[in-house]
Amino acid sequence: MSFKNLNLIPSILKALDAQGYTTPTPIQKQAIPVVLEKRDLLGVAQTGTGKTAAFGIPILQLLDGKKHSGKGVKALILTPTRELAIQIDESLAAYGKYINLTHSVIFGGVSQVNQVQKLKRGVDILVATPGRLLDLMNQGHVDLRTLEIFVLDEADRMLDMGFIHDVKKVIKSIPEKRQTLFFSATMPEEIQGLANMMLKNPVKIEV
Ligand code: AMP
Repeated sequence: MSFKNLNLIPSILKALDAQGYTTPTPIQKQAIPVVLEKRDLLGVAQTGTGKTAAFGIPILQLLDGKKHSGKGVKALILTPTRELAIQIDESLAAYGKYINLTHSVIFGGVSQVNQVQKLKRGVDILVATPGRLLDLMNQGHVDLRTLEIFVLDEADRMLDMGFIHDVKKVIKSIPEKRQTLFFSATMPEEIQGLANMMLKNPVKIEV
Protein backbone atom coordinates (compact mmCIF):
# COMPACT_ATOMS: atom_id res chain seq x y z
CA MET A 1 0.00 0.00 0.00
CA SER A 2 1.42 3.39 -0.99
CA PHE A 3 0.11 6.94 -0.96
CA LYS A 4 -0.66 6.44 -4.67
CA ASN A 5 -3.58 4.17 -3.68
CA LEU A 6 -5.28 6.96 -1.75
CA ASN A 7 -6.51 9.07 -4.69
CA LEU A 8 -4.20 11.93 -3.87
CA ILE A 9 -3.46 14.65 -6.39
CA PRO A 10 0.00 14.74 -8.06
CA SER A 11 1.08 17.92 -6.27
CA ILE A 12 0.61 16.22 -2.90
CA LEU A 13 2.23 12.94 -3.99
CA LYS A 14 5.23 14.94 -5.17
CA ALA A 15 5.49 16.74 -1.81
CA LEU A 16 5.23 13.46 0.13
CA ASP A 17 7.93 11.99 -2.04
CA ALA A 18 10.14 15.01 -1.28
CA GLN A 19 9.49 14.39 2.44
CA GLY A 20 10.63 10.78 2.04
CA TYR A 21 7.20 9.38 2.92
CA THR A 22 6.52 6.16 1.01
CA THR A 23 3.95 4.23 3.03
CA PRO A 24 0.94 5.70 4.82
CA THR A 25 0.67 4.89 8.53
CA PRO A 26 -2.46 3.01 9.73
CA ILE A 27 -4.29 6.19 10.74
CA GLN A 28 -3.41 7.81 7.40
CA LYS A 29 -4.64 4.78 5.44
CA GLN A 30 -7.96 4.86 7.23
CA ALA A 31 -8.51 8.58 7.73
CA ILE A 32 -7.48 10.07 4.38
CA PRO A 33 -10.35 8.47 2.35
CA VAL A 34 -12.89 9.41 5.05
CA VAL A 35 -11.81 13.05 5.12
CA LEU A 36 -11.74 13.24 1.30
CA GLU A 37 -15.38 12.06 1.36
CA LYS A 38 -16.12 15.05 3.56
CA ARG A 39 -17.27 12.86 6.43
CA ASP A 40 -16.81 13.77 10.10
CA LEU A 41 -14.12 11.77 11.85
CA LEU A 42 -13.40 10.63 15.39
CA GLY A 43 -9.75 9.59 15.52
CA VAL A 44 -8.47 7.92 18.65
CA ALA A 45 -4.74 8.27 18.15
CA GLN A 46 -1.66 9.54 19.92
CA THR A 47 1.08 11.82 18.69
CA GLY A 48 3.65 9.82 16.73
CA THR A 49 1.06 7.85 14.76
CA GLY A 50 1.18 10.26 11.83
CA LYS A 51 -2.13 11.89 12.67
CA THR A 52 -1.00 15.33 11.49
CA ALA A 53 -0.67 14.07 7.93
CA ALA A 54 -3.88 12.05 8.36
CA PHE A 55 -5.84 15.29 8.56
CA GLY A 56 -3.38 17.73 6.93
CA ILE A 57 -3.05 15.95 3.59
CA PRO A 58 -6.77 15.55 2.80
CA ILE A 59 -7.53 19.09 4.02
CA LEU A 60 -4.98 20.48 1.56
CA GLN A 61 -6.51 18.37 -1.21
CA LEU A 62 -10.10 19.36 -0.40
CA LEU A 63 -9.27 23.07 -0.39
CA ASP A 64 -6.93 22.96 -3.39
CA GLY A 65 -8.14 24.60 -6.54
CA LYS A 66 -11.40 25.81 -5.05
CA LYS A 67 -12.34 29.32 -6.01
CA HIS A 68 -12.58 31.07 -2.67
CA SER A 69 -13.80 34.58 -2.31
CA GLY A 70 -12.54 36.81 0.46
CA LYS A 71 -9.80 36.34 2.97
CA GLY A 72 -11.68 34.24 5.52
CA VAL A 73 -10.28 31.07 7.07
CA LYS A 74 -11.38 27.84 5.29
CA ALA A 75 -9.90 25.33 7.74
CA LEU A 76 -9.12 25.80 11.43
CA ILE A 77 -6.91 23.42 13.40
CA LEU A 78 -7.10 23.88 17.16
CA THR A 79 -4.29 22.34 19.20
CA PRO A 80 -3.33 22.75 22.88
CA THR A 81 0.30 23.87 22.79
CA ARG A 82 2.53 26.25 20.92
CA GLU A 83 4.96 23.41 20.08
CA LEU A 84 2.22 21.31 18.51
CA ALA A 85 0.86 24.34 16.64
CA ILE A 86 4.25 25.10 15.13
CA GLN A 87 4.78 21.44 14.19
CA ILE A 88 1.40 21.25 12.46
CA ASP A 89 2.07 24.47 10.55
CA GLU A 90 5.46 23.14 9.42
CA SER A 91 3.83 19.89 8.29
CA LEU A 92 1.27 21.84 6.25
CA ALA A 93 4.13 23.75 4.64
CA ALA A 94 5.80 20.46 3.72
CA TYR A 95 2.72 18.59 2.42
CA GLY A 96 1.40 21.73 0.69
CA LYS A 97 4.71 22.70 -0.86
CA TYR A 98 3.27 22.50 -4.40
CA ILE A 99 -0.20 23.71 -3.56
CA ASN A 100 -1.30 27.31 -3.71
CA LEU A 101 -2.91 27.69 -0.29
CA THR A 102 -1.88 29.95 2.56
CA HIS A 103 -1.49 28.73 6.13
CA SER A 104 -0.49 30.43 9.33
CA VAL A 105 -0.07 29.72 13.02
CA ILE A 106 -1.16 31.73 16.06
CA PHE A 107 -0.31 31.04 19.72
CA GLY A 108 0.03 32.97 22.94
CA GLY A 109 3.10 34.17 24.81
CA VAL A 110 4.43 36.28 21.95
CA SER A 111 3.45 39.59 20.37
CA GLN A 112 0.32 39.36 18.25
CA VAL A 113 1.54 41.95 15.72
CA ASN A 114 3.00 39.53 13.17
CA GLN A 115 0.11 37.10 13.60
CA VAL A 116 -2.43 39.88 12.92
CA GLN A 117 -0.48 41.05 9.89
CA LYS A 118 -0.69 37.58 8.33
CA LEU A 119 -4.40 37.27 9.11
CA LYS A 120 -4.98 40.59 7.35
CA ARG A 121 -3.40 39.23 4.18
CA GLY A 122 -5.74 36.23 4.28
CA VAL A 123 -5.16 32.71 5.61
CA ASP A 124 -6.77 29.57 4.12
CA ILE A 125 -5.65 27.17 6.85
CA LEU A 126 -5.18 28.52 10.36
CA VAL A 127 -3.44 26.57 13.13
CA ALA A 128 -4.16 27.98 16.59
CA THR A 129 -4.04 27.50 20.32
CA PRO A 130 -7.37 28.32 21.98
CA GLY A 131 -6.50 31.37 24.13
CA ARG A 132 -4.79 33.42 21.44
CA LEU A 133 -7.44 32.46 18.90
CA LEU A 134 -10.20 33.79 21.17
CA ASP A 135 -8.21 36.99 21.82
CA LEU A 136 -7.79 37.65 18.12
CA MET A 137 -11.41 36.67 17.39
CA ASN A 138 -12.64 39.11 20.03
CA GLN A 139 -10.55 41.85 18.43
CA GLY A 140 -12.13 41.10 15.06
CA HIS A 141 -8.95 39.82 13.42
CA VAL A 142 -10.16 36.31 12.56
CA ASP A 143 -12.99 35.78 10.10
CA LEU A 144 -14.45 32.27 10.58
CA ARG A 145 -17.71 32.80 8.65
CA THR A 146 -16.24 30.97 5.66
CA LEU A 147 -14.95 28.02 7.70
CA GLU A 148 -15.49 24.65 6.01
CA ILE A 149 -13.32 22.28 8.05
CA PHE A 150 -12.65 22.28 11.79
CA VAL A 151 -10.04 20.06 13.44
CA LEU A 152 -9.83 19.57 17.19
CA ASP A 153 -6.44 18.04 17.93
CA GLU A 154 -5.53 16.38 21.26
CA ALA A 155 -8.96 16.93 22.80
CA ASP A 156 -8.07 15.08 26.02
CA ARG A 157 -5.05 17.32 26.53
CA MET A 158 -7.24 20.38 26.01
CA LEU A 159 -9.28 19.12 28.95
CA ASP A 160 -6.20 18.40 31.12
CA MET A 161 -4.80 21.85 30.42
CA GLY A 162 -8.05 23.59 31.28
CA PHE A 163 -8.87 24.74 27.75
CA ILE A 164 -12.23 23.02 27.33
CA HIS A 165 -14.19 26.17 28.10
CA ASP A 166 -12.23 28.09 25.46
CA VAL A 167 -12.71 25.27 22.97
CA LYS A 168 -16.47 25.35 23.53
CA LYS A 169 -16.48 29.12 22.96
CA VAL A 170 -14.71 28.65 19.64
CA ILE A 171 -17.16 25.93 18.58
CA LYS A 172 -20.08 28.25 19.31
CA SER A 173 -18.75 30.87 16.94
CA ILE A 174 -18.00 28.74 13.88
CA PRO A 175 -20.53 27.74 11.20
CA GLU A 176 -22.69 24.78 12.13
CA LYS A 177 -22.52 23.46 8.58
CA ARG A 178 -18.93 22.24 8.43
CA GLN A 179 -16.78 19.12 8.42
CA THR A 180 -15.34 18.26 11.83
CA LEU A 181 -12.32 16.07 12.58
CA PHE A 182 -11.86 15.22 16.25
CA PHE A 183 -8.67 13.64 17.62
CA SER A 184 -7.93 12.41 21.12
CA ALA A 185 -5.46 9.90 22.56
CA THR A 186 -8.01 8.77 25.16
CA MET A 187 -11.79 9.00 25.35
CA PRO A 188 -12.87 9.77 28.93
CA GLU A 189 -16.58 10.52 29.43
CA GLU A 190 -16.27 14.29 29.16
CA ILE A 191 -14.35 14.01 25.90
CA GLN A 192 -16.88 11.55 24.48
CA GLY A 193 -19.58 14.09 25.39
CA LEU A 194 -17.72 16.85 23.57
CA ALA A 195 -17.28 14.60 20.55
CA ASN A 196 -21.00 13.76 20.51
CA MET A 197 -21.80 17.46 20.62
CA MET A 198 -19.43 18.38 17.79
CA LEU A 199 -19.62 15.50 15.33
CA LYS A 200 -22.33 14.51 12.87
CA ASN A 201 -22.49 10.83 12.00
CA PRO A 202 -18.72 10.41 12.38
CA VAL A 203 -16.53 7.55 11.21
CA LYS A 204 -14.54 6.27 14.20
CA ILE A 205 -10.94 5.23 13.70
CA GLU A 206 -8.86 3.81 16.51
CA VAL A 207 -5.15 3.06 16.12
P1 AMP B 1 2.63 12.92 14.05
O1 AMP B 1 2.03 11.74 14.75
O2 AMP B 1 1.71 13.56 13.08
O3 AMP B 1 3.21 13.92 15.04
O4 AMP B 1 3.87 12.39 13.17
C1 AMP B 1 4.98 11.73 13.76
C2 AMP B 1 6.21 11.77 12.86
O5 AMP B 1 6.08 10.82 11.80
C3 AMP B 1 6.48 13.09 12.21
O6 AMP B 1 7.86 13.37 12.33
C4 AMP B 1 6.12 12.89 10.76
O7 AMP B 1 6.89 13.68 9.90
C5 AMP B 1 6.38 11.43 10.54
N1 AMP B 1 5.48 10.77 9.55
C6 AMP B 1 4.14 10.90 9.49
N2 AMP B 1 3.63 10.13 8.51
C7 AMP B 1 4.67 9.49 7.92
C8 AMP B 1 4.78 8.56 6.85
N3 AMP B 1 3.71 8.11 6.20
N4 AMP B 1 6.02 8.10 6.52
C9 AMP B 1 7.10 8.55 7.20
N5 AMP B 1 7.06 9.42 8.22
C10 AMP B 1 5.87 9.91 8.59
